[in-house]
Amino acid sequence: MELTLEKYLVWMKEFAQKISDQKDYLSDLDSKIGDGDHGNNMARGLKAVSESLAAKKPTDLTTALKITAMALISKVGGAAGPLYGTAFLEMAKLSGQTTDLDQLLVAAVAGLQKRGGAQAGDKTMVDVWLPIVNKLKADQLTDEEIQEAVKSTKPMEAKKGRASYLGERSVGHLDPGAVSSGYLFETMLQAEVG
Ligand code: ADP
Ligand code: MG
Ligand code: MG
Repeated sequence: MELTLEKYLVWMKEFAQKISDQKDYLSDLDSKIGDGDHGNNMARGLKAVSESLAAKKPTDLTTALKITAMALISKVGGAAGPLYGTAFLEMAKLSGQTTDLDQLLVAAVAGLQKRGGAQAGDKTMVDVWLPIVNKLKADQLTDEEIQEAVKSTKPMEAKKGRASYLGERSVGHLDPGAVSSGYLFETMLQAEVG
């Protein structure tokens, strides 16, 4: 599946709306195993993404991805901002060579892991990104798969980020970044991007 500028803009619009709708829920999740700001961080960041895309009116996908990355890095803050930002920046870099969605997302997750050092099972957004990208490559991505990946973080003990300070007490809670990443991929399916 090729990612086009038009589809990408629809995707980001849907993602920004979903994050805005779920802001309080994401912060509630973060208050259980973190500092309670993930919803506010993401809502601020996605509002900046929407405003920046609307103001700069990119005419190509690479520019749109770069604008997204910059807004996320500068406005989300916390741990999640640079991580989401890196993922979009890696997509921007590769998009000059290919617009194949699978390849763009493979590069994104590699960047995310390089930046944050999280492996599968560490109870982070990586636990959603990795299986989703693999399912997408196999043409098997469904909403159910996304829900499964998000839920898989509940029994995990956090090894990265703030939640890791809790050790065993992080067990039994969903990871907020995994939930927001679930929204990213749900809206990707809704926007019929992949
Ligand atoms: P902060 O923890 O700085 O307040 P946020 O609350 O916005 O930042 O984001 C927390 C989320 O960031 C976590 O739920 C987790 O998914 C993700 N995260 C934290 N550290 C890492 C990491 N090293 N690698 C991948 N994801 C991470
Ligand atoms: Mg937080
Ligand atoms: Mg914080």
